[in-house]
Amino acid sequence: MIENSFVLYGNIIYSEDKDTLKIFENSYAVCVDGISKGVFAVLPDEYKSLPLIDRRDCIIIPGMTDLHVHAPQYGFRSVGMDCELLEWLEAHAFPEESKYADTEYAKKAYALFVNDMRSGFTTRACMFGTMHVNGTLELMQLLENSGLKTMVGKVNMDRNSPEYLCEENAEKSAEATLEWLEKSKKFKNTKPIITPRFIPSCTDELMEKLGKIIKEQNLPVQSHLSENPSEIAWVSELCPWSTSYGDAYRHFGMMNNKTIMAHCVHLPEEEITMLKENGAFVAHCPESNMNIASGISPVCRLLAEDINVGIGSDVAGGTTLSIPKAMALAIQCSKIYWRYIDKKYGYLNLENAFFMATKGGGKFFGKVGSFEDGYEFDALVLDDKSIATYVDFTLKERLERLIYLGTKHNIKNKFVNGVQLF
Ligand SMILES: [Zn+2]
Repeated sequence: MIENSFVLYGNIIYSEDKDTLKIFENSYAVCVDGISKGVFAVLPDEYKSLPLIDRRDCIIIPGMTDLHVHAPQYGFRSVGMDCELLEWLEAHAFPEESKYADTEYAKKAYALFVNDMRSGFTTRACMFGTMHVNGTLELMQLLENSGLKTMVGKVNMDRNSPEYLCEENAEKSAEATLEWLEKSKKFKNTKPIITPRFIPSCTDELMEKLGKIIKEQNLPVQSHLSENPSEIAWVSELCPWSTSYGDAYRHFGMMNNKTIMAHCVHLPEEEITMLKENGAFVAHCPESNMNIASGISPVCRLLAEDINVGIGSDVAGGTTLSIPKAMALAIQCSKIYWRYIDKKYGYLNLENAFFMATKGGGKFFGKVGSFEDGYEFDALVLDDKSIATYVDFTLKERLERLIYLGTKHNIKNKFVNGVQLF
């Protein structure tokens, strides 16, 4: 295993922006102390003494970011796909999540999840744990050992949840959060992110306490926004003082450039403006939105408005941790949206989807998701020989085939911040 400083040689592709792929045939990607120094057709003299990893037949791309995923739901992925959101939570998500009160169960179940993520395309992820402090710390420890760089949330929920999965009150939920934050300090690559489940499961009192913690400790926050029409109607009943679902978060200081809002399927104009003006991130989760019949996010509009958008697998609303699969589905469902709902913003192309999966979502972690100078060096070396064909393809076409047909078995090497995982 080579750590921190090295040169990767092969066919290198990354996003310059949402419309542009930079493609370099037979070139050198340089990593020094975990940071990219750029891509070169001819290796500059100053880097010639670094170890060279020759992957001339492969495609080398930045690691991918999963901006929204529920670790405790991994065990029942692809079950319950005939339900809508609220019914699905009651029937599947809540009963399974309650088992994570048992730390031994959590340890075993999370190990499967972390192993799958480690061996796949994801190098960065923002995820939900459960409301349980110890179970969530087990997840964080496993992630810390994995070499991935992640943000993990202990979930807050003190209302409208089944008795077996509900915190006693706002006070207790906030106390548990502070305890968890304190205990999370030992982790280097696994950071805490405040995680109110969604407005329906958090009292105003709890949201206020969480808003205060966010402000005092300068923490990021993740939640769900405007996923399903019944959920949105419920929020307007629960927060009659709010002007929109998004306003119910903004009111408590949860709408800024350290905020991830998953889904954003049914957005009123006010929420689009709010996301844009505050620099908040949207986690686009196309598979989940189709599986639990929520709808299709107007993601082309969001990109056109320069709103920060990344991709989420949203397991277990989504069935798989594969971000390439989510990219393909994002492209496909945007075409349905374009055909049936709104032609104004076009549909997603490969460039758009690749950007969201790498540089777009990576931005939540800082300079992540590109091989440009100064970016943290997260890389996947992809070998497409097993995707049989008789045709000679261009590098862009080979990338497209890897997105639509590739699996984790096509990943030959993986690096996170310059550290080789395999
Ligand atoms: Zn979710």
